[in-house]
Amino acid sequence: MSFVATILTLYPEMFPGTLGHALAGKALAEGKWRYDAVNIRDYAQDKHRSVDDTPAGGGAGMVMRADVLARAIDDVSNDTRPRVFMSPRGKPLTQERVRALAAGPGAVILCGRFEGVDQRLIDSRKLEEVSIGDYILSGGEVAAQVLLDSVIRLLPGVMGNVHSGLEESFESGLLEHPHYTRPQEFEGLSIPEVLTSGNHAKIETWRREQSVALTRERRPDLWQAWETRKNARSKGEKQR
Ligand code: SAH
Repeated sequence: MSFVATILTLYPEMFPGTLGHALAGKALAEGKWRYDAVNIRDYAQDKHRSVDDTPAGGGAGMVMRADVLARAIDDVSNDTRPRVFMSPRGKPLTQERVRALAAGPGAVILCGRFEGVDQRLIDSRKLEEVSIGDYILSGGEVAAQVLLDSVIRLLPGVMGNVHSGLEESFESGLLEHPHYTRPQEFEGLSIPEVLTSGNHAKIETWRREQSVALTRERRPDLWQAWETRKNARSKGEKQR
């Protein structure tokens, strides 16, 4: 059984978009995941096929209608897949959430446009609001592709080298160490000597130190959390 994404959007032609290429595209061709991009407008019932209306209480822009969206969601999600609404007000996406989604049957993903969607739809259909960062996009389609890209690479059999997934930034709670490859000399700059030493234990230690230093400098929030976990672990070991 492969991962199935149902995407509700006003722009189904935007899919698979980037997901039709490279790693995700190959996985799609191999049937490791499937998608269905559903046009929300197909669920409009008036003669203008309208999906949005002016905001109650006034103000700029338009709001997507709850009744139209409810018909669309109810039609496509009569299963156990999580129902996600891409939204800047949502919980920021994390590698942990990505991993959990990749272990599941798929997702129904609603892409917003305009000012957003009627709150009654979010509440009544119990949508999980997910943000891809603290900035505003013009629509949820790119955000949905970001979410799906991060999930698809974790699906079974998609990444050739399973090991490389485990060493990635965030998987250990730290940012990843720097990478180097040939040529040995580039514009007068050499590859750090330890990496060409052949001493694997030393290389591991160096990479670990680089990871910690980089995380501490760039993401004190992640470093703090990692330190706390590390201390809790060593305390637990001493008690045993
Ligand atoms: N008025 C809204 C923004 C609407 S942007 C607000 O201030 O919160 C239009 C749509 O783009 C949203 O409904 C959402 O689906 C999508 N979107 C915009 N920024 C996003 C982000 N950072 N993460 C996920 N989706 C986003």
